Amino acid sequence: MKTSNHSPTALLRAHGLRVTPQRLAVAEYVLRKPMHVTARIVHEKIRESYPAISMNTVYLTLGQFERCGLLNRFEVHGNIVFDSNTSPHDHACCNRCGAIIDLDSPRSEPSEQAAPLPEQLRQWQIKAERRIWMGLCPACNAESVL
Ligand SMILES: [Zn+2]
Ligand SMILES: [Zn+2]
Repeated sequence: MKTSNHSPTALLRAHGLRVTPQRLAVAEYVLRKPMHVTARIVHEKIRESYPAISMNTVYLTLGQFERCGLLNRFEVHGNIVFDSNTSPHDHACCNRCGAIIDLDSPRSEPSEQAAPLPEQLRQWQIKAERRIWMGLCPACNAESVL
C-alpha cells in the first residue's frame, strides 16, 4: 500500500487537496492503515477530537478522498464502505457480524481465463472486475454449528 510512507498532510497535498484541520483529522484516521469504514464510524471517531464536525462534512470529505484516488468505495449490506487499500482486490463479507476482509484478486484485470463478459457488456470497455463474496466468517460459522 502506497500511503504508509507518507504523512497525511503530504498525501492531501500530493492529491491536490487543501489541508484543513477537518480533512487532516479524517485523513489521519482513514489513511493511516488499510481499513474498511463507513462514514458513520469515521464521524464517531473524528468527533472525539472535533466535536463540531458534522456527519455531512465527514461524508463529503470521504467523497473527495475517493475522487482523488485516496480511497475506494463499495457497497455491502446497504452500507457504503470506504476502503483505504486502493490496490485492486476482491472482498469477502460476513452476513452475520459484518466482517469484511481483503482478498488478493487474481482477476483484477479482465483475462482469457476469466468468465466470458456478460452479453450486456459487449459494447463496454471493462477496466476491472470487483467481486464481493458473501457468507459466514469462520467465527460465525463455528457458532452456527453449536
Ligand atoms: Zn462473522
Ligand atoms: Zn478492501
